[in-house]
Amino acid sequence: MNYLPVSPDSLTQAAQILRNGGLVAFPTETVYGLGADAYNSAAIAKVFEVKERPRFDPLIIHISNVKTLEETADLSLLREDTRRKLFLLAENLWPGPLSLVLPKNKKIPEIATAGLETAAIRFPAHKAAQTLISLSGGAVAAPSANPFGSLSPTRAEHVRDKLGGKIDMILDGGQSQIGVESTVLDITGKSIKILRHGGTPKEEIEKLIGGVEDGFSKDQDFNGQNLSSGLASPGQLKSHYSPQKPLSVFSIEEIISLPFETDAAYLFFDGSARDAWLSARERNSALIRTLSEKGLVLEASARLFETLHELEKCQISRIFAQLAPFAGLGAAINDRLTRASIKS
Ligand code: AMP
Ligand code: MG
Repeated sequence: MNYLPVSPDSLTQAAQILRNGGLVAFPTETVYGLGADAYNSAAIAKVFEVKERPRFDPLIIHISNVKTLEETADLSLLREDTRRKLFLLAENLWPGPLSLVLPKNKKIPEIATAGLETAAIRFPAHKAAQTLISLSGGAVAAPSANPFGSLSPTRAEHVRDKLGGKIDMILDGGQSQIGVESTVLDITGKSIKILRHGGTPKEEIEKLIGGVEDGFSKDQDFNGQNLSSGLASPGQLKSHYSPQKPLSVFSIEEIISLPFETDAAYLFFDGSARDAWLSARERNSALIRTLSEKGLVLEASARLFETLHELEKCQISRIFAQLAPFAGLGAAINDRLTRASIKS
């Protein structure tokens, strides 16, 4: 396996691997993706195999300019007002961490979309990703480059640790800037729905196209077994993104009132919450991490998975995590933490 920093040479080599049906892990602004040529069903089958990902979980199709949208989606099936909304979203939020669920173009093989008539399409805001996609033939099917259900990779090292040896190449582009996956927005139905909270806050979408619904209710009782009975987006699985240590989520008031556990790790959203917790303790020797000293939500999201990767390797019994404020990217952070806290 090749493990190379992003450069014109490594990008050309990576694109050639994709054209030949191989798999390349590459950086994006959200998390690292595990890419295959989106038109090659045998290559896509390998993605499912390597990730041990259930075949019912569709991949996101990555493009490198809006012109390629019609190669991957069938826009003629959209109503006029939906098409207007699509262009508003694409003009304002692409390239960026937003995947749009659209009727799929027949050229995209069914295995990529898990048999769905729709495909989630994204134009990433990452120069290396864009170059790789355009050099490789225009469309790359790529889920996150991690084993199914585990923490998403925000550094090339995370990919190497969990998937190294099983794929053809890892392109190292440093740390992912956003650090949580894209927002998945379904615009095919009567009402527009967020299927997964992610790097594009709901508020930014609503500014452009008005109110959108949460397609996911935390109270829904589902699991991998009954997916076919109406789960709109498999990223909605209750248990997902899990570290190898038990994790529980709390408000800061709750964490302060809990009995202190010496062998636990404490993950705070911001420095002032951590200081409030520390001042309520007489003595402590706990492992403490803070996502953003000043409580900056982008910094916190960028560090979320990285910090969980670090903590899962530590000698600790469990992780107590503080929830973020719910606005903006905080919704995506809390979504990941909450799912990480649920046992599958
Ligand atoms: P990943 O790239 O690993 O974060 O996973 C991609 C996620 O995108 C899936 O788990 C789904 O939640 C979502 N997704 C992809 N394609 C579709 C689609 N056609 N309809 C609804 N959700 C989709
Ligand atoms: Mg994933």
